[in-house]
Amino acid sequence: MKFRTTFPLILSGWLAVIGCTGESPTPAVSPPADTADAGDADLHMSSIVIDTHNDVIGRVLIEGVDLRERLADGHSDIPRFFDGGLDAQFFSIWPDPIYGSDHSARRTLQEIDALYEILDAAPDQIELATTSETVRRIVSEGKIAALMGIEGGHAIEDDLGLLRIYHRLGVRYMTLTHFNTNNWADSSGDEPRWGGLSPFGEEVVLEMNRLGMIVDISHVSDETFWDVMGIVDKLVIASHSACRSLCDHPRNLSDDMIRAVAENGGVIGINFYPEFIDQSYKDQAEAERGGSVMEDFRVPENREPSTLDRLAAERHMSFQDGGLGIPQPPFESVMAHFHHVIELVGADHVGLGSDFDGIDVTPEGLEDVTDYPDITKALQERGYSDEDIRKILGENFLRVLKEVTGE
Ligand SMILES: [Zn+2]
Repeated sequence: MKFRTTFPLILSGWLAVIGCTGESPTPAVSPPADTADAGDADLHMSSIVIDTHNDVIGRVLIEGVDLRERLADGHSDIPRFFDGGLDAQFFSIWPDPIYGSDHSARRTLQEIDALYEILDAAPDQIELATTSETVRRIVSEGKIAALMGIEGGHAIEDDLGLLRIYHRLGVRYMTLTHFNTNNWADSSGDEPRWGGLSPFGEEVVLEMNRLGMIVDISHVSDETFWDVMGIVDKLVIASHSACRSLCDHPRNLSDDMIRAVAENGGVIGINFYPEFIDQSYKDQAEAERGGSVMEDFRVPENREPSTLDRLAAERHMSFQDGGLGIPQPPFESVMAHFHHVIELVGADHVGLGSDFDGIDVTPEGLEDVTDYPDITKALQERGYSDEDIRKILGENFLRVLKEVTGE
């Protein structure tokens, strides 16, 4: 998720539709997407394809877009999921860090409600999944399996009861932090407070393991990562992270961290965000902006509750006008991260973690969810076996989901 610091003047129009998931403005309709190249269509379309991180629920809640429509902008909607052969989507439930640890539960529940409204509106196209078995059953019925993952441990407001309620509502992973350090875990995007996990943070991790909610180590600081790996007794994921040895960003995983995830048996969903995957793009972007994208999140907590929704909407809309004007990095720049993880630890520990609709720029040729078949094609061209490619596309993650949830 990236925010720019200048806000467009179109906010007042959008603010009128906050929360109205069923009464969205009519979106413009874009032409049908390109279909997959014939050579890779069979493997891609016959595989279960899972993406572990998509932020489009923010658009639903704040902009009022209707995911049943083919939207003219953004990266995702139900028609385009089908075009891209995307079978299962983890929808990120991400209360903006601005809500802090006092006001995040309402926002978290609003986002969960927004997803439930979509499920109710299109039951013949999309259904909630909470286990690997339900994913397989829903996909076999020709529908999209919708899964929920919370982004940012501040969502639980330091209360294990809220964590348990989110699990009951169907949430199956939680990133321990977002860009912000919270009251029990340090983030890679913020100042450290705990040197990793606090004692309560350790309780959160163990309770997630007990419940059957996947511990997601995307966004956490290195110290938090190693604290987690020292106590976790189930498989972990990085739902949307890339490789630090290819792009030196604190948000990415070092080779030692990638090896530790592999040793645990977990999976790393590769993030598509140019600033995390392409060193040249990152350097240009940080020079132009005058700092890391993560600094925009260092905002004081505990603002007046009545202003939080407006501020969150402004921050959401501030990235919709599209990037810094730096040319998109090439498609190969994201594929290099897949190849790197595979060369380092094998094909059992990598997957898709796009961050679509949480990023304002993508690599060239990965413009939206309809371009997933090109990843399959690139993996085939690299010479990986069909079995390995099916693992990367979804089977690796299904293995984790089965281990953690028990079914
Ligand atoms: Zn994120």
